[in-house]
Amino acid sequence: MSEAKFPTVAVLGAGTMGAGIAQVCAQAGSSVVLQDVTDEFVQRGLARIRDFLQKGVDKGKTTVEQRDAVLSRITTTTDRAGAARGAQLVIEAVPEQLALKNGIFRELAAVVAPDCVLASNTSSLSLAKVFAGVAGPARCIGMHFFNPVPLMALLELVRTDATSAPVIDAVTAYGRQLGKEPILVKDSPGFASSRLGVCLGLEAIRMLESGVASAEDIDKAMVLGYGHPMGPLKLTDLVGLDVRLAIADYLAQELDHPGFRAPELMRRMVAEGKLGKKSGQGFYRW
Ligand code: NAD
Repeated sequence: MSEAKFPTVAVLGAGTMGAGIAQVCAQAGSSVVLQDVTDEFVQRGLARIRDFLQKGVDKGKTTVEQRDAVLSRITTTTDRAGAARGAQLVIEAVPEQLALKNGIFRELAAVVAPDCVLASNTSSLSLAKVFAGVAGPARCIGMHFFNPVPLMALLELVRTDATSAPVIDAVTAYGRQLGKEPILVKDSPGFASSRLGVCLGLEAIRMLESGVASAEDIDKAMVLGYGHPMGPLKLTDLVGLDVRLAIADYLAQELDHPGFRAPELMRRMVAEGKLGKKSGQGFYRW
């Protein structure tokens, strides 16, 4: 294994995304410090990583030695500053709240080395706002991973006006070491992935609402006609209608484009608790 571009990485937040990010960084050979607010949460994140790797062992895709080597490169803590202090890269994956993320980066900028790269996994917030007032804005960048992180190939890198070219180059190279295909996107509402994906999903809901075709047939149009792995309505069910509605409302406000106005059907379903897979009912019954 070639040496990891960032030998020590701190991952803040050990939830769905943080655990996956910690895993792929450790798989690439980095030493990873995984941090969360309580020991229970970090242990839950670690257990998720262990389970994922064990499934690989059970399927014969991962050896016991590989599993143990990855796990041996991950340490856990509840001490944020301690986690970040020795890292060359900090990846934040805490809940999607602007004030929380901004506060963390402002605090850490004073703790980490001047050339430590600060990255946020935000899926929708403006990176300029996430990094507002953070010392050394040239080293700040968005690293938008996709769920489940170990399986999804896309890494959306989001640059602000201040992000330096060397930082973009280093994070791009590291993204490839993680086994991802990086794309570079300007800090703009919805980046590339959500802006296109949500737009398609909303139009599919409008088509269902106006009786153009059934949910199954709208999805088949994209799966069989355009080679999408999954139709836009099923994907909305998986993401959660409430999650997508919040993003749609944000994009409608930021982009002032009628394509992002959420359909009434979607609002009604969310109000009725039909949130998709997690509630057992969305455009499909789960
Ligand atoms: P999650 O709720 O599963 O995990 C968040 C974790 O952060 C929790 O374990 C929580 O205890 C921890 N946390 C809360 N406050 C903290 C703090 N101050 N310091 C450290 N840890 C703290 O959420 P998630 O789905 O992993 O999402 C995390 C981020 O990733 C969000 O910004 C989200 O928008 C983004 N994202 C999510 C997805 C997805 O599909 N879930 C995809 C791409 C990006």
